[in-house]
Amino acid sequence: MTQGACFFILEGSAKHHMKALQERISKEGLILSDTVLKVDSFLNHQVDTQLALAIGREFGRLFGNEPVTKVLTIEASGIQFAMATGIALNVPFIYAKKKKAITLSEDVYTAPVHSFTRQETYQISVSSKYLRPEDKVLIIDDFLATGAALVGLVDIVKESGAQLAGVGCVIEKSFQEGRSLLEKKGVRVHSLARIASMSPGEIHFIEDDSVVHQA
Ligand code: 5GP
Repeated sequence: MTQGACFFILEGSAKHHMKALQERISKEGLILSDTVLKVDSFLNHQVDTQLALAIGREFGRLFGNEPVTKVLTIEASGIQFAMATGIALNVPFIYAKKKKAITLSEDVYTAPVHSFTRQETYQISVSSKYLRPEDKVLIIDDFLATGAALVGLVDIVKESGAQLAGVGCVIEKSFQEGRSLLEKKGVRVHSLARIASMSPGEIHFIEDDSVVHQA
């Protein structure tokens, strides 16, 4: 099933990594509307574990020049990629919780996030125990759309006093404002597949990942 795609992601050049993921998205992605892409068969409901590990290795390669100490994501669909990246970089990963448990006694960093897919605003929180000023944090998520979730995570990293290595996304919908929002904040962004436009039956990708900005 996925062996070909994984082979390229594991063994190929960065261009091949992008290509194999793009092919998978084109083949299995369902376009629910002009803005929503469903990739439930291999990325964020059923998960192709080898592909997830390969994605982690790719993020590890892209950010390997930074002394990353923690990977940070948001529950639930970023978890498998953050874990894979944590494995690749040999560091722990943390996932921000969407609901602050009333039993949570320790201090937490929080940020409001408006969900574009669910049309609601919720608070995300991370225990201050696990993000320290001496940390260098790499944020990972499955999608970059409006950027709200990732901006929330960036704000939490800032609040903690830790340094931010950058943001890695599996799929970026480049026609939405997320990337420019992050870049305006001086954040380095790497996305493995960048969608320029999509409509039922058709997805166009940005072929070149040279649009990588650093503060
Ligand atoms: P943002 O905050 O950038 O608008 O969206 C971030 C979150 O919304 C992602 O973590 C992802 O879970 C979800 N999301 C945004 N766009 C899509 C999409 O087109 N398809 C799916 N499956 N999830 C999306």
